[in-house]
Formats: sequence, C-alpha cells, structure tokens
Amino acid sequence: MTLEVRYHKLIEDIQSACSKANRDVSEITLIAVTKYVTIDETKQVHALGIHDLGENRVKEAKEKIEEIEDVTWHFIGPLQSRKVKEIAEQINYFHALDRLRIAKELNKRRSSPLECFVQVNISKEATKGGVEQEALKDFIQSLAGLENIRVVGLMTMAPHSDDESLVRGVFKELNKCRDDIQALDLPYAPCQYLSMGMSNDFEWAILEGATHLRIGSTLVNPER
Ligand SMILES: *Cc1c(COP(=O)(O)O)cnc(C)c1O
Repeated sequence: MTLEVRYHKLIEDIQSACSKANRDVSEITLIAVTKYVTIDETKQVHALGIHDLGENRVKEAKEKIEEIEDVTWHFIGPLQSRKVKEIAEQINYFHALDRLRIAKELNKRRSSPLECFVQVNISKEATKGGVEQEALKDFIQSLAGLENIRVVGLMTMAPHSDDESLVRGVFKELNKCRDDIQALDLPYAPCQYLSMGMSNDFEWAILEGATHLRIGSTLVNPER
C-alpha cells in the first residue's frame, strides 16, 4: 500500500468510527505522528493535506520545523527542562505536560500562551508519563499565574492491548477527568479537548470522545 492509499483507508476508518459514535468528523483533529520518518517522508505526509504533525524529540522536531512550512506542530513527547528554550516558541501545542518545573520553564520561554494538554497516567503503568488521576486537580490548580500556559485539554496513552473494555475504560476515565476540570471553571484551563487514540486504538478513542488523534505507524510507517 502506498502512503496515499493508507491515508484514504485511515480517513474511511475515522469516518466510520464517527458514524458509529454519532459524532461529526469535523470534531476530530488528525495529528500525523511523523517521528518515525525523514524530512522528505514528512513532506509527503504534509502534501496529502495533513497540516497537523506530531514529533517527540527536540532535535528532529526543530529540523522539520525549519524545513516545512504551513504546519501546526504538536510536540507529543516529554520535554527536558534544559531543552525547553530550544523549542518553546516553535510549537503550537504541547501534549505531555505533567511537571510544574516544565510548565514554569515553558512559561518563561514563551512570549505568548502555549496551548497544552496535561498528560494523565490513567492506567498507572510505571513506564508511562503523566500526572496521576488523583493529583490532576491540584496539578492544574498549581499552574495558576503562569500566564503563558493554557490548558486546552487532557492527554493519555492507553495500555497496548486488544482488550476493548480495558482500553475504552481508560479513555472513558480521561473523559470524566475533563468534566472535573471543566467544573473548576478556571480561566486558564478551558480543557475542552481530549488527545487520545493511536494507531491501535483510535476507533475506541473516537467512541469515548477523543478530539485529537495521534496516529503514526499505521499511516507513516506500517512496517513498525
Ligand atoms: C509515537 C507516539 C504516537 C503514535 O503511535 P502509533 O502507535 O505509531 O500510532 C502517539 N502518541 C505518542 C505520545 C507517541 O509517542
């Protein structure tokens, strides 16, 4: 299958999950995760008409940001404090906010508010980043006063599993967390979005209310 064929199949799968969920496909932002591929291959993905691209490493992200125009850049991986200044001004969204230290550093290095997703470790896997669900409210409240941090949503990664009820349960829980944060009515945390769903589980994520899908391997690198 060529990239173009994979793209059309993906769009069809997203559309059919949306009809199943009774949702409008315009509610969904598809982020192509291009971390697996070269600059040239990333340009081919962009040429399909996908303008939201996701990267998880500072060095690679910077190279691509310099080379490819007209992109909304999503930084989806953890950031180290000392690297924040290299990338802070160049990204449009940060999906993995889970530490106050990084929030403070981003706040300092940005000249305008950065749209952030707070990552939540719903499944409590030790290998995954994210704030624990129980600590989420306190974490988001601790961001008050950081005028360049705006919490537009929550992000999670489900366990790698084909157990539908397990995976959907994680997504359902993130959706509940969003309700809790919205109820706080914080001006800097409208928290309207849910960044959840990857190659293996995006259909379930759509059924549970995802607004931002982060899809890599099935689109850009099917061999992985
Ligand atoms: C790599 C990555 C993805 C994409 O995963 P695929 O399974 O390749 O679709 C999504 N989110 C994050 C945080 C990632 O690091």
